[in-house]
Amino acid sequence: EALEPEERERLLSRSSAKYYSVVFQDLEGRLHERILRATNAGELEEGFRVDGYSVGLANIEDSDLLVKPDFATLRVYNSPFGRTAFLVGDIYYESKPLPYHPRYILKSVAENLNFEVLVGFEVEFYLTRGGKPADSGYYWSPIDNTALHAIAEILEELSSTGVEVRSAHHEVGPGQYEVLPAPMSPVAAADTLLLVKKAIWSVAAKYGLKATFMPKPFTGLPGNGLHLHLSAHKNGRNILSEDGQLREEGLNFIAGLLANARTTALLTNPTVNSYKRLVPGFEAPVLVAWGIGNRSVLVRVPRGLKGASKTVEYRLPDSSGNIYLALTAAILAGVEGLEKRLKAPPPCSENAYRLSGLEAIPRTLAEAVSLARQATLLSGDARKALEMLVASKAEEWENYLKATGASPDSTEVTEWELEKYFDR
Ligand code: GLU
Ligand code: MG
Ligand code: MG
Repeated sequence: EALEPEERERLLSRSSAKYYSVVFQDLEGRLHERILRATNAGELEEGFRVDGYSVGLANIEDSDLLVKPDFATLRVYNSPFGRTAFLVGDIYYESKPLPYHPRYILKSVAENLNFEVLVGFEVEFYLTRGGKPADSGYYWSPIDNTALHAIAEILEELSSTGVEVRSAHHEVGPGQYEVLPAPMSPVAAADTLLLVKKAIWSVAAKYGLKATFMPKPFTGLPGNGLHLHLSAHKNGRNILSEDGQLREEGLNFIAGLLANARTTALLTNPTVNSYKRLVPGFEAPVLVAWGIGNRSVLVRVPRGLKGASKTVEYRLPDSSGNIYLALTAAILAGVEGLEKRLKAPPPCSENAYRLSGLEAIPRTLAEAVSLARQATLLSGDARKALEMLVASKAEEWENYLKATGASPDSTEVTEWELEKYFDR
């Protein structure tokens, strides 16, 4: 809920922030930012104008949009500008929220549920130096601890901003790490991911490193996923599980994720590069299946988690696109499963990379675009956002083919992708 203006003033003066950073994501997931001196903070009340055309949110003939910070998102962190008050902006057209802006869509979706969904995200990234992984992998490099220093500071930094990081660990790839903040409401989770990315980029730069969240930065090394741990709560009860066992509703929820994964992949995995991650052998999903403790499938139910903390882990998404759209897709999919009481197939206990005969996750952005055209899950403003994305993504695919001359089914990461997605 929004802070009262006086409360906000108190928070800000206490934080000794010298700058304000207002950020928002466009449909593609590019992060836009406006920096203001704290002395000009009064301007934030009214919001500020942006060229909606250049950020893909409006037509050129009617392109004036307004960005208004949501003061409930305020968190102070150390940006390259020093102590900075981070705020997420909402997009307005005249005096009304722009209805097809993803943050607004996700907010409406979450508000209209008759239970509460919690989202815990695991965000994976590589720390790199000179375009290469910054450490030597699963075994620590005994000589160069730069990446570890950076990770230590990242954790300190996140906790000082108030993001409760449950855990962090080295991932399977060299220089690859993962942080896992505590579960929160969907919009807060998406906002938090933006802050987490900003903070990680900022700290990494201090150590001469670059962090990348790109889905597959290096051919032949594991990709960067954005696993979503989802749970649904009503009257203080997790409605998906009980005593560490999935309830029928949990199975319905999983069935909804499976049923919609292919047609909503464009929202959860929206770049050319996303599909280079979804190949066998790197713990990323390639088939529509679920399992218990199985890391080769689309949905994993972690073993051993009890009661309210039991979650359903959706392993498909990556963080290369608009996170509000990715969460909208995942939540609506699960909810459709609940509402229609969809039946889940039996859990898969095999290595899915050795199976055949199951439905496949799209293999390219082009396939995801054509499946998205058949999506029935989204309606109204969400549908409009999806259609806008379909148009721009069809073009992105054509540009990729033209620029690289790659064959459509190539799984090699190209320079073109590195240039376009490394910093997203
Ligand atoms: N890096 C893997 C992926 O691309 C996931 C590894 C894991 O299970 O955490 O999704
Ligand atoms: Mg991981
Ligand atoms: Mg995971």
